[in-house]
Amino acid sequence: MTTLLATWREPGPIALEAAWAARTRGLDLKSTIEAGLAACELDPTLIAIGLGSLPNADGELELDAAIMDGRDLSAGAVCSVRGIVPVISIAKKVMEETRHVMLSGEQARRFAISKGFRPQNLMTEENCRRYAEWLDTPEGTTDSYHHAIDGNNHGDTVTMLGLEDGPHTVAASSTSGLQWKLPGRVGDSPIVGAGIYADDEVGCAGATGLGEELWKACASFRTVEAMRRGLSPLEACRDTIRQMKRRQVHATDMPCVVLAMNTAGEVGAATTIGEFPLWISRDGTSELKIYTADEA
Ligand code: ASP
Repeated sequence: MTTLLATWREPGPIALEAAWAARTRGLDLKSTIEAGLAACELDPTLIAIGLGSLPNADGELELDAAIMDGRDLSAGAVCSVRGIVPVISIAKKVMEETRHVMLSGEQARRFAISKGFRPQNLMTEENCRRYAEWLDTPEGTTDSYHHAIDGNNHGDTVTMLGLEDGPHTVAASSTSGLQWKLPGRVGDSPIVGAGIYADDEVGCAGATGLGEELWKACASFRTVEAMRRGLSPLEACRDTIRQMKRRQVHATDMPCVVLAMNTAGEVGAATTIGEFPLWISRDGTSELKIYTADEA
């Protein structure tokens, strides 16, 4: 049995379709998840991540991604990469072809080009239009977190978790970060322990939402460690979210979400505010589960 999780209503099915197509071609779990996230990044109509997603305050896309292998805790990440997609594939190359965990900015881009990636313009007519609209109304009329709260959401991050027999786990995340962010800002998503964590002894966890708060909480590591202490994935996620709400005054400024899966294939998620849609797919059969803040 292979189980894959993908975040948010809109990008989730695109990620899962590409991931299952890769799986059917015989790809391993890491490459399966890479294929899912790469498909979202390369889809210009999807404003969640990658090509055509929402840029920083300069109108430039700076992308972050990370992947972690629960077998040996190996990990690869990139942050603040401009003008190249898919950044999840660059992160995977950092993991597999260097002894480092993270490369940043211009040097990550240089590394990618040395590995055969092609620079390209990531701005589309639609995201230019939204950026111009934001410049006119800096309060922001297209804040995706407002979409997140009203349920018509796409998030700014796609986080995927995977489990196969072994048990073996992989966690990965790709993001354009918060829209209209200060240039150079990096959130939780590419940070091992914050945006993702995987350990085959226990399970895996990921995060999406307000990156500063999720990072302060080391949300993914905290959740995996809670499962190690015996909590179910659902209880572990709720425990992290309750702790964040208790200790972090900004934890409810925007949704902060954690999702987790243990090595038995049990799944859970929790959010500080609003509702969070999570796609859960077992051997290709997918269901959308909605987690709401009042349950946590
Ligand atoms: N966590 C991401 C960040 O803060 C944003 C998101 O998940 O929507 O960069």
